[in-house]
Amino acid sequence: MQGYIVLLAVLVALLVGMATGKAWERYKLVEGRWIDRRRVRQSPDFILGLNYLVSGQVDLAIESLEKASQLDAGAFELQLVLGNLYREKGQVGRAIQEHQTLLQRPRLNRIDHASALLCLGLDYRRGGFVDRAVATFSEVLKLDAANEAALTNLEKLQEDQHQWQEAYVTRQRLSLIAGPPEQPKSQSILAFLENEIGLQAMKQRDFAEAARRFAAAIELEPSVTPAYLHLGDVRHEQGDLVGAIAMWERAIDVSPERAYLALERLEEGYRTIGADARFVELCRRLTAAAPREWRARAALARHVASQGQQAKALDLLFAALEHNPHALAIHQAIWNTLSALDLPRALVARYIDVTRESVFYLDPHVCMRCRYRSTELLWQCPHCHEWNTFVEERISPATDTEAEIPASVSQ
Ligand SMILES: [Zn+2]
Repeated sequence: MQGYIVLLAVLVALLVGMATGKAWERYKLVEGRWIDRRRVRQSPDFILGLNYLVSGQVDLAIESLEKASQLDAGAFELQLVLGNLYREKGQVGRAIQEHQTLLQRPRLNRIDHASALLCLGLDYRRGGFVDRAVATFSEVLKLDAANEAALTNLEKLQEDQHQWQEAYVTRQRLSLIAGPPEQPKSQSILAFLENEIGLQAMKQRDFAEAARRFAAAIELEPSVTPAYLHLGDVRHEQGDLVGAIAMWERAIDVSPERAYLALERLEEGYRTIGADARFVELCRRLTAAAPREWRARAALARHVASQGQQAKALDLLFAALEHNPHALAIHQAIWNTLSALDLPRALVARYIDVTRESVFYLDPHVCMRCRYRSTELLWQCPHCHEWNTFVEERISPATDTEAEIPASVSQ
């Protein structure tokens, strides 16, 4: 009997303890008032607001969440999210006001303080208040040194202002925080930043520093094409043309698909050292390896045309056009050559034949991340700010790919 009472007492104590715990979890003492934490989260407006958010209906989401926030004016996360939604809607002033109000709350803990500051920084960045955004993200990092969102935003702001050295330091911090899985991406970004720092040194004609930077970029990421091109340029400036040529050739070895970036430099370099044949050989090798590499054909055409072999140049250009009908540069080169030959009727007719079925497209480079288009190859996307995301969009008549489309789709 005694044992039974003891057992019962223990059980009751346990239940009371659990109930107290539950109550503590549910209610929170805010400025002398007990707040039911679940009241907001269980309100229909809150759930509805989340559903609208998921389906991308921002206006309706704001309306519902505003109603939910009236249940508890102290709901921190809800006010934070509402501020962010105002920013997304373009109401930057209102977003700033919302987040500043949160920051004025007494007894904010460190995490909430950092979160509200981060959102405020995003508001400033969106509104174009660059200095204030930089200051705010730096403030976040004082509270939370490993805040990746603050570091990423800070890096982009520094890049926007061409503060490559500062961006480099920020990226190094990010790389340390993210650890090994993100390291290859960081290495590549650091290499592009080294390349930019090298270009700045080159502008100031500090060739020794520039060469050091480009070499460091290659050391960090051997596939960073512009660093080879620019290191070659530095050697050229320093009077070492043979060394420059070797470096430009390495750029082609590293990324043959971007060989054309080095072609003009190499054409002039080979000519200066009296080795024209090496240019012809290089172009032939590139077109043999990649038949759609129209720039090598076009470069070779320009080269042979400059030596007076117009008919041979036209043959090369027509071949290039068949593979890339959208490349305006080829059309222009053809017309230049045709006029140099005084527009022979037969050749003009051949041009019309080749182009009859062609698809034209003026801006063939596209960002793989955000689909931003550009007429030239860019190393950093001006829209999504990502590095090295541009590929050349090649349009050709669908022939062999048609067979791959399932019958159900083509019907
Ligand atoms: Zn992009």
